[in-house]
Amino acid sequence: MVALSTRQKLEILADAAKYDASCASSGTAKRDSRGSKGIGSTEGMGICHAYAPDGRCISLLKILLTNSCIFDCHYCINRRSSDVRRARFTVQEVVDLTLSFYRRNYIEGLFLSSGIIASSDYTMEQMVAVARSLREEHDFRGYIHLKTIPDADPELAHQAGLFADRLSINVELPTQAGLERLAPEKDGVRIEGAMAGMRHAMEDMGEARRKYRHAPRFAPAGQSTQMIVGADDASDSAIITRASSLYDRHRLRRVYYSAFSPIPSPSAVLPLRRPPLLREHRLYQSDWMMRFYGYGAEEVASATDPVTGCLPLDIDPKLAWALRHRDIFPVDVNRAPREMLLRIPGLGVKAVNRILASRRHRRLRLDDVARLTTSIKKLRPFLIASDWRPVQLSDQADLRSQMTPAPAQLDLFS
Ligand code: SF4
Repeated sequence: MVALSTRQKLEILADAAKYDASCASSGTAKRDSRGSKGIGSTEGMGICHAYAPDGRCISLLKILLTNSCIFDCHYCINRRSSDVRRARFTVQEVVDLTLSFYRRNYIEGLFLSSGIIASSDYTMEQMVAVARSLREEHDFRGYIHLKTIPDADPELAHQAGLFADRLSINVELPTQAGLERLAPEKDGVRIEGAMAGMRHAMEDMGEARRKYRHAPRFAPAGQSTQMIVGADDASDSAIITRASSLYDRHRLRRVYYSAFSPIPSPSAVLPLRRPPLLREHRLYQSDWMMRFYGYGAEEVASATDPVTGCLPLDIDPKLAWALRHRDIFPVDVNRAPREMLLRIPGLGVKAVNRILASRRHRRLRLDDVARLTTSIKKLRPFLIASDWRPVQLSDQADLRSQMTPAPAQLDLFS
């Protein structure tokens, strides 16, 4: 194999890491300042943005240790049978890159994933060695997110948690059938077993820290996972149900949804077209409903189409749910409990908190609510205020069409 420079490896291994959404940055147009015009570039390799536990947006060096892999997951560009250029960093190279990017203020942390080389244990040892060297030899205080390998020795995952802020394991596909078809070497039971092990370690170490101030921290930013959407025929309803069970059973901080994107030299079992990106967005909205608005998975799933099991793309899932459950509306903003206010389409957590604070002092009018939201038109049919009472929703047969954004001509040249 031809020896590659660090820059060439970075090109290959940062590009290979972009398919992992669990620390996502949004795409943008390519620009750079070569030719001495302007400053800056949007093409820098390997830097993406993520949110720290305190809500700060941080830049991370996002790379793979290697894009070689002994597994052959059909949806993955790095699979064994894929015809791509391979590269591999040494532990020292990743450490040096992280430190030099950090010193130049390019990044505030590292997101490190890897294909599986030789064995799961060997790969995990290499990743732990990177995190250990950064923390112990260089006293690196920045953010570290390590992707762990479910088959690796639990002791290695434990060590990873002592050095990393966040750990994640991808469940990859929402159903066991999908996993068996598209990632036959992966085992859903082992993946969930590894998540359960991390959850217990986090709880044990958290308990120890409550008793002993100097007990070590274990993955203080928790664990997360990613599901690929649209590579198999799993419905949104199945995805929502799986995500909810992962949140409940393993106390995940986040489930990320990644719309399957066709890869170069794809496997014949994959669909030819990617699902609409809006589907991914609707799943994030439904996830938000479960995490912040108090909906159960079965409630969110009730907003899906009964035939396809998928969320509508033209309206958001909270509105879709409200239209399916018209009998509970309108909700009185001056009397309803918090959990009912959170069900009004278009009212977010902040707006609900402000309604609860304001109504202690006076009765709220429609105008008062309008000041808390961007679209009172969307809310009006669902709420009662001191000067407003809508027609019963069940009497409004055309409500859905009133709420659906008008279709717009697509731009041929965008
Ligand atoms: S194990 Fe990971 S890197 Fe290897 S083929 Fe599967 S998804 Fe890709």
